[in-house]
Order: sequence, then structure tokens, then C-alpha cells
Amino acid sequence: MADSPSNRGIIRTVDVCRHYQMGDSVIRAVDGISFEIGPGEFVALLGSSGSGKSSLLNLIAGLDRPTSGEVLVNGSKLAEMTGEELAHFRRYSIGIVFQAFNLIPTMTVMENVELPLRLAGTGRESRGAVVRKALDQVGLSRRLDHRPGELSGGEQQRVALARALVNSPQILLADEPTGNLDSRTGLEIMELIHDCNQRLGMTVLLVTHERALAGRYAARALFLSDGKLAPEDGDPATPAPPESPAGGAL
Ligand code: ADP
Ligand code: MG
Repeated sequence: MADSPSNRGIIRTVDVCRHYQMGDSVIRAVDGISFEIGPGEFVALLGSSGSGKSSLLNLIAGLDRPTSGEVLVNGSKLAEMTGEELAHFRRYSIGIVFQAFNLIPTMTVMENVELPLRLAGTGRESRGAVVRKALDQVGLSRRLDHRPGELSGGEQQRVALARALVNSPQILLADEPTGNLDSRTGLEIMELIHDCNQRLGMTVLLVTHERALAGRYAARALFLSDGKLAPEDGDPATPAPPESPAGGAL
């Protein structure tokens, strides 16, 4: 599980597959993917709907296990972690934001952001200050006693981002974080994610089908098509491979 000089990628996958068995047929959602992301990189994972982006992200997040192949974070194989180690990894190493925000509707803004700290056993005394700092980072200082249903989509995504940041993870995974937002609000959220990378030095993997977003914020793009990485791997502003039509412009 130790890091080695040949293994410097903060995220690394080796021939990773996730096949779903559906009755008699097999869906090869992730089909033999190998790549590496260095610490502090901002990488976009592009591909049309159904190309396997969320399936791959869930494997990296440790939310799902590969059918075969390896996912390594900081040189540690997720498959070799005990349940406790995996929980620790999900709690402290990774923050995730989703398209649908995934906030707990019965909890207030404060309580939603505080939840990862409570799960991590952080004492009540220190929680308040840490929650406020995370909310400050996303520019949300009001409406902290409101519930998600009383907030705009952009505010909800700010809360979700604060929740992802509250344990100061090294890695931020974002699965179509602007997909449910209007373009202006989406850009505000992207600026915050960009800040996490630039100011906090977090490694960011952004899943999107919007090439314009990738081109604007990511330094490098990976192109997914039918569960495979397209040979093109580089500047997100370059033309799309034929299988992955360009996403809607902002
Ligand atoms: P994307 O995020 O790029 O839209 P997904 O990773 O969600 O793609 O899905 C990739 C493929 O895997 C699709 O064909 C999808 O229908 C299928 N798929 C995703 N999750 C499951 C699942 N839990 N069971 C069966 N098939 C799935
Ligand atoms: Mg998806």
C-alpha cells in the first residue's frame, strides 16, 4: 500500500472495469481504463451521457468497487482497504459534489455542512468554527438555519460544496455540478471549484458533458466514450472525438 516513486499520481487507475449484469446482458460501463492524475491538477472527464463518467467517478470515490482492475489513491489500493480504512478515506481524502446536490432535506444548512464532522467524531466545540469557515469559502453567510428546500439551486450547490470541503480533503470530485443550474449560477459554482484548486491546492476531477466548461477551467481533459478512454488526452479546448459530440455551450 506504500507510495513508490513510480507511483506519484494522487489518483491512478489500472485497467479498471465496472460491468453491470442486467439479466442476460452485460453493460460495460467502465471498460479497461488506465490514467493518472497528479497532485494539484484540475482534470475534466468529458463524455456524452451514458459514456460511463459517473460509474468511473464512483469507483474513484470508493462508493463502488471495480469488476476488475485497480483504483489507487495516494498509492493505496482501494480494494485492499478495510471497511474502516475506506470510511476514513471517504471522510478525509475525498469531497464530492453531485448534480442533484444530495443534501438532507430535513436538516438545516448548518446541520448539512456539519454532518461530515459529526461522522468524523469532531467535538461540538470545534465544529461551529469549521462549518463557518467552509460556508465562508463558498460565500454563504446567510440563511444558515434554512432547509435546502427553501434555497435556490445555486445556494444548495454552495451548501453541498461546503459540506464537501469541511473535512479539508485533498481531492474534490464533482459529477456534473452545474447540470441543474442556469449558466450564470453554474459559472459561480465553477469559480468556487476553481478556487479550491488554485487557492487550496486541491486536486479536482470534474465530470461534465459541457466542453465549454472543461475548456475554461480544466488544464487537461480525459475523454470517455462507451466506457473507454479516447486516445485524445490533453487540452480540453481541442475538438471532440467523433463519438463524443461537444456538450452544449454555456
Ligand atoms: P454517464 O455518467 O457518463 O452518463 P453512467 O456511468 O451513469 O454514465 O452510465 C454508464 C452506463 O452504465 C449506461 O449505459 C448506464 O445505463 C449504465 N449503468 C449505470 N449505472 C448502472 C447500474 N447501477 N446498473 C446497470 N447499469 C448501469
Ligand atoms: Mg453521470
